[in-house]
Formats: sequence, C-alpha cells, structure tokens
Amino acid sequence: MKAIVNGKLVFEDKICEGTLLMDGGKIVAVGDVEVPADAEIIDAKGLYVGPGFVDQHVHGYSSCGERIDVINDTRGVAARHLKHGTTTITPTCGFSLTREDFLSIIAQCNEAIEAGDTTIAGIHFEGPFTNPKRGANAHLTWEYSDELCYEIFDAAKGNVLHCTYAPEMPHAPKMEAVLQKYGVIPDIGHTNADPDSIYRAVDNGARIVTHLFDAMGNYRDNAAEITGDPQDCVSDIVLSIPGLYYEIISDSRQVHVTKVSQRQTLRCAGEDYVILVSDATGRATILNPDDYPPEDVRSAKDLNFNLLGQLSGSCLTVSQGAANFKKVTGADARVVFKCASTNAAKALGLYDRVGSIAVGKDANLVFVDEDFAVKAVYFRGNEVEDIR
Ligand SMILES: [Zn+2]
Repeated sequence: MKAIVNGKLVFEDKICEGTLLMDGGKIVAVGDVEVPADAEIIDAKGLYVGPGFVDQHVHGYSSCGERIDVINDTRGVAARHLKHGTTTITPTCGFSLTREDFLSIIAQCNEAIEAGDTTIAGIHFEGPFTNPKRGANAHLTWEYSDELCYEIFDAAKGNVLHCTYAPEMPHAPKMEAVLQKYGVIPDIGHTNADPDSIYRAVDNGARIVTHLFDAMGNYRDNAAEITGDPQDCVSDIVLSIPGLYYEIISDSRQVHVTKVSQRQTLRCAGEDYVILVSDATGRATILNPDDYPPEDVRSAKDLNFNLLGQLSGSCLTVSQGAANFKKVTGADARVVFKCASTNAAKALGLYDRVGSIAVGKDANLVFVDEDFAVKAVYFRGNEVEDIR
C-alpha cells in the first residue's frame, strides 16, 4: 500500500487537499481517509496530483535529444512519453506511410496490447484514406480500395480505437460503414468537407475532430467572394455541432492553432470536449531548427517541418502542450487535466479504467506545479524513473 499525502488532488469538478491510497496498481481510496500504519508515504509537497495524460494522436518522440518513430520502435515511443506523464497512448499509423510500415506499426501495437505491460491502449489510424489536398505530405495519401481497407482493419484485430477520414471523399460513406462494422470511432480530419458531408458523418458516428484548424480547408473555391471573409470553413462547421471532441496541438508559437482559436475552441466546445494531443513525430526527414533565426517559426524546437517546408506534426509531449494551453487560455489546472486526460479517455471508451482520480481505476498519476511542469509520474502505482 502506498499513500500520497500533502497533494492538491485534481478531480473533474474540484481540486481539494486529501490523501490517495493505491495498491496492486489501482487507486483504492481517496479523500479524507486514514493512512494505514504500514503504508509507504509519498509526500506530494503541495503539488497538483492529477490523472495521467492520455495521448490519442502520436507518431513518435522528439525531445531531450532523442528522436524515435513508432515505425521503428513503438514501445520505445510509449516509454519516452511516459517519462513526461503520458500514461495512456494510442500510437498513430499515418497516411504518408508505406503499406509495410503501416502494417508494422499495427503488429507492434498488437503485440504490446496483448502483453499488457505498456501504456499502449489501442491504435489510431490517421487515414490512410483522407483528402490528398489537406495536410503535410498529403500527396502520399492512399487511394481507397475495399481490399486495402479490410486488410488494415483485419490486421489490427479490433485494436483500432479511432480512425481519421475526410467525409467529402467519394469513398467516405463506404468508410463509415466499415468503421461501424469494426466498432471504430470515426474522426473528421485532413478534410475540405462541406456542411452536409459533415452532418452525414456525424449521423454515422463521427465523434472526434482530428487536430482542429490544422489541415482543414474551405469547401468553397471562392470562399470570400460575397462578404469578403471566408465563412463555413471546416473548423467553423464542426465547432457548430454539439457533442464532438476536438484535438488541439498547443505548440509554443501557436502555429498549429492560434491563441484566438485555442480560446475560441475552449469557449465553444467547453471544458468537456477539448483534447490535447502531441501529434509528435520522430522521423528524421525534417528541417533543422538551428538553421533559422529566432523570429522564424521554423526555429522552434517543438515544431516539425518536412523537407517541403510544410508544418508536419510536432516535437511536443502532452505535458508541454498542456503547459502551453494553460498559458494561452488562462484555464486552471482542473480544466487542463480534463483536456489532457479525462476527455480523451471518455472519447475513446477508456474512462472505466483511466482518465480521472477515482477508486478502482488504474493508479496513473502525474504531479505538476503551477506551470504544469511534471515533477513525478506513477504508472499503475509504480513511480516512473528519470522523468523529463
Ligand atoms: Zn498526425
């Protein structure tokens, strides 16, 4: 038995001082509880103690001088993010990969999920059937075929939790039927969709929006023709629909999502529907930030640009995104923990096990200070060493 004392426990509806007991990898008591005499005492020293972060969109890891991609080492990526407080992760297979690499990530995730000894809880398919006009490396988007589609979903053996697709593509209604058949949550992303295609997608189960404002267009060719302002872009349309979850990549320069758009999303969607993701990549084919002057966004260490100069994911972790989001929006620690943990757990159907501090859930915990700097991480009750 371990007892966390002297922490500010972060719940969904409040922050309060109290004690948390954990045993056998689970939270066994929380609140105003007595500490058993034989318990190991962990002093949280006044830090916030919240639920471990959930990263539902991540291709790799690029921090602290390391660069690892899920293609080569999916377990390694999960282990690195764990050192930053991400205790649940759904590695992403992206549309720009070859079929072989896509299948390799699936196989690695299947193995890890079956073994049950990592933070890997499922798989995210980012495409591969998205709109070839939207996003970095979008020219590599796969062309839809029934054969390919069934091949990748069968290979994943039920482990895909969510899949990004573009509702305006001719194959989209077919995709929606496939996702329903396999019980996979459809994500709207890398898209130029018009309102009616999006409404149909939502009627057919779409619940998540892949990195809002990023790789999203305007379905009309002459969007600003009449009023002088572009209206009804994909971001506007999806934000007008209640019940959708919105991924936000919150980088240090607000390049993926501007300050105004982050605030707008939190206000429109509310604190229950924003999901902070890293969209971190670990691929080597990038521009070197040191080659650019400080005022150029390409000098930012947490952004990633491919050799075509396109913004291509990040070098973030959810913890860093959460710290940025807190600063930009002014949200308090309770709201930021919901956006970094609870909401993704709910969106993905993992909330019975993770995503909040509650008796019976996995003892996945993160200690952070006022600036959301990670000070300690516990995964299934065990302290994670060498946190970053
Ligand atoms: Zn991505």
